[in-house]
Amino acid sequence: SSIPKIVILGAGYGGVLTSLRLQKELNYNEADVTLVNKHDYHYITTHLHMPAAGTDHPDNARVSISKLIDEFKIDFVKSTVVQIRPQDRKVILEDGTLSYDYLVIGLGGESETFGIPGMAENAFTIRSINSVRLIREHIEYQFARFKREPHRTDYLTFVIGGAGFTGIEFIGELADRIPELCKQFDVDQSLVKVINVEAAPTALPGFDPELVEYAMNVLRKKGVTFRIGTAIKECTPDGVIVGEGEEIKSQTVIWSGGVRGNRLIEEAGFETMRGRVKVDEVLRAPGHENIFVLGDNSLMFNPEGRPYPPTAQIAMQQGVNCAHNLVASIRNQSLKPFVFSNKGTVASLGKGEAIGMAFGKKYKGRVAAWLKKMIDLRYLFIIGGIPLVLRKGKFL
Ligand code: FAD
Repeated sequence: SSIPKIVILGAGYGGVLTSLRLQKELNYNEADVTLVNKHDYHYITTHLHMPAAGTDHPDNARVSISKLIDEFKIDFVKSTVVQIRPQDRKVILEDGTLSYDYLVIGLGGESETFGIPGMAENAFTIRSINSVRLIREHIEYQFARFKREPHRTDYLTFVIGGAGFTGIEFIGELADRIPELCKQFDVDQSLVKVINVEAAPTALPGFDPELVEYAMNVLRKKGVTFRIGTAIKECTPDGVIVGEGEEIKSQTVIWSGGVRGNRLIEEAGFETMRGRVKVDEVLRAPGHENIFVLGDNSLMFNPEGRPYPPTAQIAMQQGVNCAHNLVASIRNQSLKPFVFSNKGTVASLGKGEAIGMAFGKKYKGRVAAWLKKMIDLRYLFIIGGIPLVLRKGKFL
């Protein structure tokens, strides 16, 4: 019989970990593995808030895929997936077609705007290297524009929609960057406003309330204004309309208020909730023995029946499990259920400041910031070993 074909869609946290494990565990000629990704690099999503604010260079948040995988063992195809056709066991790329025996879907999430008018058209999102380059350049441009039109203080007003993990981490960096930009462009810092608008009754839902309070105080001291419990009703080219119709004029709205799964998955006919497939205990799409779904594309529930939040941490663990189960499937062995092991969460609040929960304890300030650094270095080590830690680690 012919060699089984495994196709992995997306070189994010889930796809990269699946590939790395497969290349280690598969024997010679046991399977044909193809990894497809839009770009020829993997981006370290958990680091994107820094290049977005301009406190780090975008290149430090990406790694060339050829440096991660062994191209003698895995074929890498740089292309964009345009359609998944489970009924034909095929994937349509922008420039070709791939057929598979086993498919792994790890295309990552998309921004969810909850139908807020104008949000998709007028706001920026922190999602990829390209999207953060745009934010970074745009912010600098606003300072330059203000020097020519000094009555336009809306150039210096930055609105961040959403006080989740991504929004808060970005605000921490932006608040650090503002004084630098003011100096560079000779702008009076008191004219700059960073406003966080969040509809929920608290920032960082799911975090310990004492840590949330700490985080908000750190950011307030850096000049951030919080509008918690305030919904954005509309986003326009001139700013946002909040609450009962109040307008906040701003040329820079960054939306971090929601993540959903991927449109391609809905279009493929899988049963989804907000673009995510509710997978079985071995991460397969219901009714498809040969399709595994990972990371932000999947939906899994904890023992209490609540969905796990989409994180890099769970996506990586799923990748490891998926590789194991692919090898087991090929060898006709029994599959291992996925069990999430929560190692904790740390959110950075800019230079030297963070909050976190790990090992059943709360952390804040320098210790938490150090933990964050360790988590980032550990990730670099997992995907690229010591060489990658030395190459990229010094920037973290
Ligand atoms: P992704 O990592 O998003 O990868 C998807 C890949 O698919 C990408 O390489 C993309 O280019 C590719 N792709 C997409 N569409 C196509 C297509 N049509 N064709 C081909 N390729 C395609 N999680 C944590 O655990 N800890 C944190 O500290 C943390 N911080 C975060 C900070 C920020 C600023 C952000 C945005 C997220 C953060 N997260 C964090 C969440 C975490 O990044 C995601 O949950 C994780 O990236 C999901 O991994 P994934 O493998 O599902 O997809």
